[in-house]
Amino acid sequence: MALIVKKFGGSSVADAERIKRVAGIIADSYVEGDDVVVVLSAQGDTTDDLIEKAAEINSHPSKREMDMLLACGEQMSISLMAMCLEKMGLPVVSLTGWQAGMLTNSDHGNAKIKRIDTTRIRNELDKRRIVLVAGFQGITRYGDVTTLGRGGSDTSAVAIAAALHADLCQIYTDVEGVYTSDPRKVPNAQKLDEITYDEMLELASLGAQVLHNRSVEMAKRYSVDLEVLSSFVRKPGTKVKEVVKHKMEDRKISGVAKDSSIARIALIGLKDEPGIAFKVFRVMSAAKINVDIILQSVGIGETQNISFTVHEDDLEAAQQALLDRQESLGFKECTVASDVAKVSIVGAGMMSAPGIAADMFEALYDAKVNIRMISTSEIKISVIVNKDDADRAVQAIHKKFFEL
Ligand code: ADP
Ligand code: ASP
Ligand code: MG
Repeated sequence: MALIVKKFGGSSVADAERIKRVAGIIADSYVEGDDVVVVLSAQGDTTDDLIEKAAEINSHPSKREMDMLLACGEQMSISLMAMCLEKMGLPVVSLTGWQAGMLTNSDHGNAKIKRIDTTRIRNELDKRRIVLVAGFQGITRYGDVTTLGRGGSDTSAVAIAAALHADLCQIYTDVEGVYTSDPRKVPNAQKLDEITYDEMLELASLGAQVLHNRSVEMAKRYSVDLEVLSSFVRKPGTKVKEVVKHKMEDRKISGVAKDSSIARIALIGLKDEPGIAFKVFRVMSAAKINVDIILQSVGIGETQNISFTVHEDDLEAAQQALLDRQESLGFKECTVASDVAKVSIVGAGMMSAPGIAADMFEALYDAKVNIRMISTSEIKISVIVNKDDADRAVQAIHKKFFEL
């Protein structure tokens, strides 16, 4: 008998038929004798629909009220699933994030989990009930509802698995596991049997939304056994773990990812003197804006340019913060572009394999894709390209590394 946390994403519970199919997976595990905690996302496009509903009423609602609204989606899923399992004659209880003891900070819309009081979940498991928990949501110490950021139900599931010391955390989704690239965009993408936490964390952070990046971070920190698998076909999925089998050392690259939700800011005509980069990025950090790829040009005469990327949602605020300080920063112009995307390759094996960057750039050259910025680390290489070129870039790079 094992304690298993199973998480089902929005498409897995999108309608009554799918809820019934998922109930079958839950029931099988319970009947085999497992203790089962299930984390659910909102059905299908519910979260997007709720965001649209809010926009019809107020284009700038407070983050607190947005969280109140968005948390409703997950609550619908758990109660519907509970009704389905009840009908099958199984003992079940559904719990909201706060009933399940999910305590977060007050960063509405992107709240961080501080602690999980597992008393209620444990009591319910002791009664041999299937426990359904609403993903994506928590509560602050002041009693306000929070959400964890888009895709955050994965993080709810891993956090609960860590807090309960579960034997396994299974993330069920609409594809059969983690692939070498998004299988919906790259038809020849290959399913990986296993992948390291570090590689998965990079892939997730670089746009592979199959797992919320914070869920991978947490799985690594608490050594949670994680598996990504399909809720539509019953097959083993992809194991995410600390080390993968020896034969996998041959693999230089584990995946290609794309992130279209970025924007580029360029500051033209900054003074070429010490402290300028410090002042620019201090402005960004004061505005709580994450900066990603940074490119500083070689000084021409007395001036230089600095370009960097931010999340597209932060573009307006970033531009405003910079323009507010134009005089003290001393730049001539601030231009922005949101027609860009980031394409990345990830692989622990690239550290010991020269020529990976050249191969990637050759693939882009062959596909006639222009590179606007480049950034590298030990286990990834990212390029910024035009948004219209991004899918072609991913396909060309995938072909170069995986399809020869
Ligand atoms: P869920 O609703 O189950 O949370 P998501 O839509 O958040 O599902 O994530 C699953 C989707 O992630 C897949 O449908 C797939 O299109 C996309 N995806 C992107 N990159 C990858 C990848 N490398 N491997 C698998 N799926 C990926
Ligand atoms: N329902 C939330 C979203 O759409 C959380 C999740 O699906 O993980 O982002
Ligand atoms: Mg998801």
